[in-house]
Amino acid sequence: MPFPISDATPIAFPGPPPRETDVVVIGGGVIGVCTALFLARKGRRVVLLEKGRIAAEQSSRNWGWIRQQGRDPQELPIMVEANHLWTELAAQTNVDIGLVRSGVTYLAESETELQSFANWLPHATAQGVDTELLDRSALKARFPDLAKSGIHGALTTPSDMRAEPWVTVPALAGIAVREGAVIVEGCAARKLDLEGGRVTGVHSEAGRIACCDVVVAGGAWSSLFLRAHGVAIPQLSVRASAGATEPVALPHQGAAAAADFAFRMRADGGASLAAGGFHELFIGPDAVRALPKYAAQLRADPFGTRFYPAAPGGYPDAWTTRRQWQADEVSPFERMRVLNPKPNSAKLRKVAASVERLFPQVGPIRYRAMWAGMIDTLPDVVPVVDRVDAIPGLTIGTGMSGHGFGIGPGMGRVLADLVCGAAPGHDLGRFRLSRFSDGSRMDLGPAL
Ligand SMILES: Cc1cc2nc3c(=O)[nH]c(=O)nc-3n(C[C@H](O)[C@H](O)[C@H](O)COP(=O)(O)OP(=O)(O)OC[C@H]3O[C@@H](n4cnc5c(N)ncnc54)[C@H](O)[C@@H]3O)c2cc1C
Repeated sequence: MPFPISDATPIAFPGPPPRETDVVVIGGGVIGVCTALFLARKGRRVVLLEKGRIAAEQSSRNWGWIRQQGRDPQELPIMVEANHLWTELAAQTNVDIGLVRSGVTYLAESETELQSFANWLPHATAQGVDTELLDRSALKARFPDLAKSGIHGALTTPSDMRAEPWVTVPALAGIAVREGAVIVEGCAARKLDLEGGRVTGVHSEAGRIACCDVVVAGGAWSSLFLRAHGVAIPQLSVRASAGATEPVALPHQGAAAAADFAFRMRADGGASLAAGGFHELFIGPDAVRALPKYAAQLRADPFGTRFYPAAPGGYPDAWTTRRQWQADEVSPFERMRVLNPKPNSAKLRKVAASVERLFPQVGPIRYRAMWAGMIDTLPDVVPVVDRVDAIPGLTIGTGMSGHGFGIGPGMGRVLADLVCGAAPGHDLGRFRLSRFSDGSRMDLGPAL
């Protein structure tokens, strides 16, 4: 089965973009789409530019977990808000996005891991989230099919949800357009237009759009765009592979993860399957430059990432990707409409074998489709959600670090308020841009 969204997908939102608006949002993933939606709700004229297709990159390729469990404590209140917003948004679209409150469960394969789950629990309690720690016997009583030898217990959050990503994000784009946002697919933002250091517009491949505010929500491409304007963030992207299986009777209806695998049931009766904490990094100039900031991450998980000397041509951090271009030149963004990495099929077959071994009752697992996405990440595994002091009118919402799908509606609401100068309602201190330049230690926090 070919991946359902690609650069061959017919354009649903053609241009040309208007010549003037209040806000331009760069990037049509879940973050950009939700930001545009909430800006429209606040009465702003908003134009969202997407170089390829809505949700064609990370936002369609993810596992579809909408998870409060294990979040960074500063993300958690925004995620709790997002959970409420998901239910509202699902009712506001005329599409079935497959939203199911089926819970998220992490299985502990050692007492140390179970203790780390226990250490996170107070954060859930503080936010009124229904997370529970299950020891071996409680796990057996609650989820008998998950209680296997070698599993010491679990952390579970019944109110966590799932949805079908490649249906969901285009459906959210539909709501945004209905509520007044203008979306243009196949239209890259090349450069900001600045006057006296302030945002006055965006140069797109379809011409200049005058505006006072820009939100950069470009996923894996954000650092490349920002650096061309002198704004440095140590953002890198790692390849993560996932697969959809033929219909399968998994031992659990919710989403679950252990060291070797992560799965969730899909609306089509199959499962989405992936390797939990395994990623692949293609080394490029950004990776070399950012390496010292990733020291804490590498120490905490020295074997979670596999390294390759170079990315395929055209990737954001490929050695040959241009770092500077003019507004009237073709930019790297339009040279690669959709970042579509080749999946690591050998790894995915090992994942299936791990599930078959632990849960023999499942029988042989067959994949219908495999794909990969480039997860954009930051050294402390939390995003940048901030206004850029040095460039008035510029706001950043990026670096969701592998968990941006679930929190998307919450982050979109927050970003819309930031742009409008309204109180975002949450403490965004941990997501400030200046942490990368003010000597702050890269703090991984207690997220699981
Ligand atoms: C395999 C995998 C599994 C994951 N599982 C989960 C999960 O279960 N739960 C969860 O919460 N998160 C998960 N994630 C992470 C989640 O998918 C991302 O954090 C989230 O989708 C990021 O959204 P985004 O809008 O920031 O970026 P993206 O979805 O990558 O969107 C950015 C968009 O910006 C566009 N763009 C970039 N530059 C320009 C430009 N100059 N002009 C115009 N357009 C531009 C790109 O084409 C792209 O479409 C997973 C990710 C992967 C890859």
